[in-house]
Amino acid sequence: MSQQQSQLTPEYLITLGQQFGTPLYVYHAEKIREQYAKLTTAFRDSNTVFFYACKALTNINILKYVHSLGANVDCSSINEVRLALHAGFPPERVLYTSNGIGFDEIEEAVSLGVIVNIDSLSNLEKFGKKYGHTYPVGVRLRPNIMAGGNLKISTGHDKSKFGIPVDQVDKILDLVDRYHLRIADLHIHTGSEIKDVDVFVQGIEILFDLIPKFKELQFIDLGGGFKVPYKDGDGETNITELAQKVQTAFANHPNPGGRPLQVWFEPGKFLVSECGYFVTKVNVMKETDAATFVSVDSGFNHLIRPMFYDAYHRIENISNPTGIPKRYSVVGNICETDTFAWHRMINEVREGDYLVFYNAGAYGFEMSSNFNSRYKPAEVLVKDGQAHLIRRRDKFEDLLRNQIEL
Ligand SMILES: *Cc1c(COP(=O)(O)O)cnc(C)c1O
Repeated sequence: MSQQQSQLTPEYLITLGQQFGTPLYVYHAEKIREQYAKLTTAFRDSNTVFFYACKALTNINILKYVHSLGANVDCSSINEVRLALHAGFPPERVLYTSNGIGFDEIEEAVSLGVIVNIDSLSNLEKFGKKYGHTYPVGVRLRPNIMAGGNLKISTGHDKSKFGIPVDQVDKILDLVDRYHLRIADLHIHTGSEIKDVDVFVQGIEILFDLIPKFKELQFIDLGGGFKVPYKDGDGETNITELAQKVQTAFANHPNPGGRPLQVWFEPGKFLVSECGYFVTKVNVMKETDAATFVSVDSGFNHLIRPMFYDAYHRIENISNPTGIPKRYSVVGNICETDTFAWHRMINEVREGDYLVFYNAGAYGFEMSSNFNSRYKPAEVLVKDGQAHLIRRRDKFEDLLRNQIEL
């Protein structure tokens, strides 16, 4: 079956559910390519590089596909660094933006030759002592900007643990002097689901004040957090407008050192949210005074965003597209309250129907667990019209694999 459009059809998702079983994560490669093209097209006239923030979805086949598109990669743990290298990214295109990590991981990242962003004075000092000017390093700053979908996904505000607060820049400069550090990039990441492009411009303005203080600077890293639509009427970060505003900001602030600075972004959700579909099957219908419950063969063990972030995922009954819409509360099957949606209008639901959750590519499978000793779902990649199983569903042995029976 050919699937060349950027949206997979309900009929096709049902076939995949039947072929591979449910619950099932399905990713559509062409949608990732389309999103990446939006970025590169908008920024084609400027010196900008995109690092896929891979914590959103790290299946090795997704990493390889993003690599094939020409993107770089941003990692948030040393294991993501190892996965990125395994997927074929050369070390100079791998960025490790650390937070609160042990210095041993920084040493490993240096030995692997990847780019490192350090987010504490403590680790920066250890870095200085060990490497001095021999290895360039980036600094993650906390700009004290409040932005993003909600507090749990905001990282740049003045109570956030992330980054070195900009008001401590003198302490950074002391370390630069003392250890002759080569600060190659300044990084800020203010949060997720930022629709207002002016937040990024605000970030640039803060960095512009600091740029003259860092003589060896080559890159400015503005982080990720571009918004994509989750529900009807939601907008997407206007990338064209962002590109224009970033270019204008740079035109207004020629780098005093005269060196052209390259701009980096780290999109996660923007690249992989909409490529993903989570296909589930209805186990049980239950009428109560409070609600009509639809229990699907999943739970927050597979998709935690609704319970964790109050996130909205569009849910469609793909088995009954012409059914009369009614209000349902869609819940899971684990022994814990795991509400996916409360009083949501959905086409009439019957036991055995397939329900699909949209925007399931980013932070879906990646945040799944084996809670209740249930299996993690299988993952399928649709590419060039072909569906490929890229992770088999857990088996019973997987639950015991690392346990040591006494
Ligand atoms: C999570 C993260 C991103 C990506 O955020 P999205 O909202 O998925 O775009 C980018 N940079 C850093 C440092 C991150 O931690």
